[in-house]
Amino acid sequence: MTKRWLAERRQEKYYRLAKKLDYRSRASFKLIQIDDRFEIFREGDSVVDLGAAPGGWLQVAKERVGDGMVIGVDLRPIRPIDGVLTVLGDITEKGTMDELLGKLGKKADIVLSDMAPNIGGHYSTDHARSVHLCTFAINAADNILKREGRMVAKVFMGDLFHMVKEEFEKRFRSVKVHAPDATRSASSEVYVIAKGFRGYEPKEIHNDNVEVKKAKFTVKGEIK
Ligand code: SAM
Repeated sequence: MTKRWLAERRQEKYYRLAKKLDYRSRASFKLIQIDDRFEIFREGDSVVDLGAAPGGWLQVAKERVGDGMVIGVDLRPIRPIDGVLTVLGDITEKGTMDELLGKLGKKADIVLSDMAPNIGGHYSTDHARSVHLCTFAINAADNILKREGRMVAKVFMGDLFHMVKEEFEKRFRSVKVHAPDATRSASSEVYVIAKGFRGYEPKEIHNDNVEVKKAKFTVKGEIK
């Protein structure tokens, strides 16, 4: 039994389970496993999910917060989910953030980000794009999260990871790094689980230096 064979078996298991339980993606189980272990959600929490399509995490978040508000944002449209709001747009663009904040109307208890760049096959480039997206997610959280809020964010592991971790550590009292069982064992993705948001001066997103090609995702941007 090779590592790859085991990874494929595991993917198949979660794929079947997602179908059976009516979840839109296998990714749902990553969030379920993270929440079971790290206790992210509480009844009534408000949740923002960045990079939410097709909606597997939104389904889990809604189940776990009950009457709490759940909003998902993505470049791709998300089919409606009962009790869940959505925003269509690019999280690196100010207009998207403005629409999101308008719909939210208050600060959120939880920010989730499962955002991923289109995988180009060149690992260090994919890693750098993932780090860049995660940095945007952190910046979005500066605008969205209430004090003591929680955040779960995906990032591809690699030599720039320490930069992301440091950004989390500046803002949160507790920062843990975890790879749930539902993550493919061959994959290099990990999740940062951060709790106890201290509050952080939000930085403006400058779009003039951001280039986003929606078909083939690239980000060349900076947050000043
Ligand atoms: N958590 C989702 C679920 O359970 O269904 C799966 C998310 S999928 C792995 C990653 C998503 O991130 C894609 O749908 C992609 O369109 C989105 N994404 C990537 N870059 C983004 C950006 N700049 N703004 C908004 N969404 C983005």
